[in-house]
Amino acid sequence: RFIPELNWYLFVDKHENGALAGIRKSLYVNLLICLLVTVIVISLVSVALRRYQQRITALATTDLLTELPNRRGFNLLANQAVQEARRGHSPLCALLLDLDNFKQLNDSQGHLAGDEVLRGFAANLQSAVRQADIICRWGGEEFILLLKDTPIEQARELGEKIRQQTEQSSFSYNGGELRITTSIGLTQLQPDEVLDQLIARADRALYRAKQSGRNRLCEETA
Ligand code: GH3
Ligand code: MG
Ligand code: MG
Repeated sequence: RFIPELNWYLFVDKHENGALAGIRKSLYVNLLICLLVTVIVISLVSVALRRYQQRITALATTDLLTELPNRRGFNLLANQAVQEARRGHSPLCALLLDLDNFKQLNDSQGHLAGDEVLRGFAANLQSAVRQADIICRWGGEEFILLLKDTPIEQARELGEKIRQQTEQSSFSYNGGELRITTSIGLTQLQPDEVLDQLIARADRALYRAKQSGRNRLCEETA
């Protein structure tokens, strides 16, 4: 306070009393608790968001019937595999598989029987390939395999094994047994090729397999 008579300012310096110190302490404790709660809430929300995002991505890239990657899932992995193969000059082979006369099976046994065959065929296919291979339900009754670091002779052997296994397998449905065969188109990635060119050639090989009588593997070299 200013004391005009003396032209002085009067300051009082006094220690905080006990009550004020208590309030200050509880303010700090409350702030700390708020901070802690905020950190916990933000962490929980971000974990939940990440899980949700992973589920959405999995749903968007997986085929629900066969649980194999769909075309979107395949493209993500396949483009990367093509780049790696080109960079490392390692062989990469593609096998395009199409079930034979599947429409006939649907028409005679019903669509659900067809679904059962697709599921069974996909499971067999999955168990025939290595973890590193890229597998996909390409569409309807078509599937594709990309075999990394695999020479064409080895890919041919695998394709032939899959063809024979398919021919010998049966799938239970409604007390009966369903059978199917598959045609396969095989090709190998050429230097400087992109994924679409590889698949287009595998498709030509598959077309030849169908034309020449089905239940066989045909190869198309560049
Ligand atoms: P091809 O030997 O020449 O390949 O003859 P196909 O009958 O297998 O070929 P087509 O393209 O004429 O018929 C394919 C059928 O696959 C037609 C379609 O209804 C059926 N299909 C596609 N997706 C599904 C599915 O998810 N479930 C079932 N049950 N059928 C499907
Ligand atoms: Mg087809
Ligand atoms: Mg077919």
